[in-house]
Amino acid sequence: MSIRFRLTLLYSAILGLTLIGFSTALYFTLGQVTLTELKATLKNETQRILATETLVLDTRSGLPTYVQTVDFTGTLIKRTSNLGNNRLPLSDSQRVRVLTGEHIFEPTVIDGERLLVYSLKLRGEPTIFQVARSLEGRERSLEALRRLLIIGSSAATVVAFGIGWLLAGAALRPINRITHTAHAIGVERDFGRRVDHVGPQDEIGRLVTTFNTMLTALQGAYKQEAQALQAQRRFVADASHELRTPLTTIRGNIALLQREPPISPADRTEVLSDMADESERMSRLVHDLLVLARADAGRTLRADPIRLKPLIEDICRKATVVHVERTISCESLNDVAVIGDHDALTQVLLILLDNALKFTPAAGTVTITTAVGDGQAAVSVRDTGIGIAPHVVPHIFERFYRGDSARTGTGAGLGLAIAHTLVVAQRGSISVESEVGAGSVFTVKLPLASVDAVAAMHQRADTSVLA
Ligand code: ADP
Repeated sequence: MSIRFRLTLLYSAILGLTLIGFSTALYFTLGQVTLTELKATLKNETQRILATETLVLDTRSGLPTYVQTVDFTGTLIKRTSNLGNNRLPLSDSQRVRVLTGEHIFEPTVIDGERLLVYSLKLRGEPTIFQVARSLEGRERSLEALRRLLIIGSSAATVVAFGIGWLLAGAALRPINRITHTAHAIGVERDFGRRVDHVGPQDEIGRLVTTFNTMLTALQGAYKQEAQALQAQRRFVADASHELRTPLTTIRGNIALLQREPPISPADRTEVLSDMADESERMSRLVHDLLVLARADAGRTLRADPIRLKPLIEDICRKATVVHVERTISCESLNDVAVIGDHDALTQVLLILLDNALKFTPAAGTVTITTAVGDGQAAVSVRDTGIGIAPHVVPHIFERFYRGDSARTGTGAGLGLAIAHTLVVAQRGSISVESEVGAGSVFTVKLPLASVDAVAAMHQRADTSVLA
């Protein structure tokens, strides 16, 4: 049974019961009032007759009041002519009660007419005086009232049911719309749908708003999920493709080495060197893929306090040793500590430094600087290299994205993707500013370590030196 029907039925039933209660009370109250009035009329009539007409009772034919007198044995003495041959009844027990001075009212039926009989003993005489009047008028009024109440109440209940049905339908319409929308979403998987509702922010209004807000959240989550899935697919496809190239080269080279007659020693040396290069490229690629796969699998990085100055100086020193001919500057560094993972941060800075050196001519400069602000420390790797075209910038952190492949050479386009993933996993951020021909600045921001964390770090360092 629908809520609409139950609601309508419920308040129709309440109205119906209220009307029945009210009608019953009205009917019985009116019945009582008219009976009391009739009794009073009979008493007044008696007073009047006793005062004026006792001796001329038999002249009252055709009038609405019937009067008779009987003696104390019950024998009729006189009666009004409108009674004809009928007698107003008086049972023995009633006669005894009347003789003891009681006044009694008793309904009776004479010639099919219902009457109310009032009997009393006349003071100082052994005579019983009886007056009666018809109850028909009262009963007809009560009957008419009863019919009116039954028909009126029934009609009111039916009309209330109809109006209630329409009102409940109107009130519940938005809920039906929500049901339809939810059903359609289930069938079509279209989270872009919304429930239209123009009305006040009452219970229904709030329900619609909440439902639409939930849909917006679902739409976002669904979109994110779909994008993640698509990215994952592309990643697997790209990874397979990247691995296939060195494998094909190696297989071709093996075929060359197996050739009969054998190739010249000079060619052989070149083929072997090619194979070594390709194997190294492949192992670098597999290593990068592993780092990304681990990060994707939710491997949690450490959240230790790390002093930036020694870490950057160490990286600089090593880079200078490898690239003696290049200018790498790491001066005026802030001696602050950030919260992060030492190995991951080192890897990120190595990727950035490696790119900077790769995309900067030998005469150019690569500088690492630090800055502190807003509870964060920023490490910037700045180069005076070729810069990045504006249309490329939004993509450089994507997996397997390479700028102009003609100039990038060996990279698989995973370096910055790894850097981004590792920085985000350390609750930091990475950004880039670049100008074609002038150079690029990559900035990594990480949360600063609290004073307590740094103190604890120093303490650990001291104890490890002592040990
Ligand atoms: P790869 O590992 O191939 O270097 P990355 O993800 O590190 O890939 O970089 C992606 C692309 O971003 C590069 O192919 C290059 O076009 C561009 N890029 C990265 N760093 C720099 C830089 N310092 N100067 C100019 N271009 C850069």
